Amino acid sequence: MAKKSKTVSKITRSTSRKAPKPAGGGLDLALLTRLCETPGVPGREERVRAVIEKEIKGLFDSTEVDALGSLICRRQPRDASGKRKSVKNPKTVMMLCHMDEIGFYVTHVCDKGYVYIDAAGGFDTRNLFSRRVTVCTDSGDLPGVMNPGGRPVHIASPEDRKKVPEVKEFMVDLGMTSEEAKKRVKVGDYIVMNEPAMKMGDKFVSKALDNRVACWLGIDSVRELAKLKLAHNCELVVAFTTQEEVGLRGARTASFAVRPDIGIGIDVTLACDTPGVPENERVTVQGKGFGLHVKDSSFIADHTLVRDFEQLAIKNKIPYQRCILAAGGQDGAAAQQAAAGAKAIGITVGTRYIHTVTETIDLTDLRAARDILARYVASV
Ligand SMILES: [Zn+2]
Repeated sequence: MAKKSKTVSKITRSTSRKAPKPAGGGLDLALLTRLCETPGVPGREERVRAVIEKEIKGLFDSTEVDALGSLICRRQPRDASGKRKSVKNPKTVMMLCHMDEIGFYVTHVCDKGYVYIDAAGGFDTRNLFSRRVTVCTDSGDLPGVMNPGGRPVHIASPEDRKKVPEVKEFMVDLGMTSEEAKKRVKVGDYIVMNEPAMKMGDKFVSKALDNRVACWLGIDSVRELAKLKLAHNCELVVAFTTQEEVGLRGARTASFAVRPDIGIGIDVTLACDTPGVPENERVTVQGKGFGLHVKDSSFIADHTLVRDFEQLAIKNKIPYQRCILAAGGQDGAAAQQAAAGAKAIGITVGTRYIHTVTETIDLTDLRAARDILARYVASV
């Protein structure tokens, strides 16, 4: 029998070979969910900042909130045990992670109690039909539904059906009387999409991955430094910036204040590896690693930084893909072009369906971005 049993045990051994680790294994997705589900449009990022401030306890030597609401966190050089060490003229490496998501501001509450809006950030209005939203007022969050005004499909003319309405033609119904709506909602209150985040196989889906992914990376890459006991000789500054979606505004002022030697813009980028997009316009392919972001319409990365990150990724077997984004920008451009300028690069996570409520990332790429950021800080 023994013999037989040996064979059996061999078979069991082969069948019990460890299943590949799920892409999301060990990643703090609860934090990513909290970040994604906290409302924060350009100019009103304070609730997201509060979540981050709670999470970063013990990771930095100092934090400050600047005039535009950016949270600037500084970590001085550390030895492998995490203790501060003195380094003569340490280089300043700045990560820029914008907190704002695209959303709306209230422009008017009409006599029937409907709320009218103005966009903060770029929207394709075809994605705004029949959406659940949250209206953030000083007296609390209110649930609402967003639709364009006009005839619904049953009574719409063929022309009507083809029309793509502008943002100003959309309105939010709160299910309230006009008195109550006017009492509760003020011009200048802000509105975000109301869509819960979800894990989908090795993917993660949310309406605010742009750019809560970077907020997560700005926190977890520093945790990873500590966890892996990686020493670093540079001063690390993580700036959780504001108003990126309306023109890199918070990053400009934060970069002017910090004057980094090296700026790293962390953001999502396009992953158009979906049907109907020609191969040469995919930008990134999900599951192939973090985006080594060489160029977009706001900046051209420093080629020596591109080389350094690439060599580091190869050395540490961290999957990556070089990418160029034809249209669109990110905070790295602000760090590069602020004050007397800095060397800059973009580290991105390929995202499908950007600026929709179904933004989707691959967790392998998220992990790769986290790992390369931690390794890079330790390498400077
Ligand atoms: Zn973004």
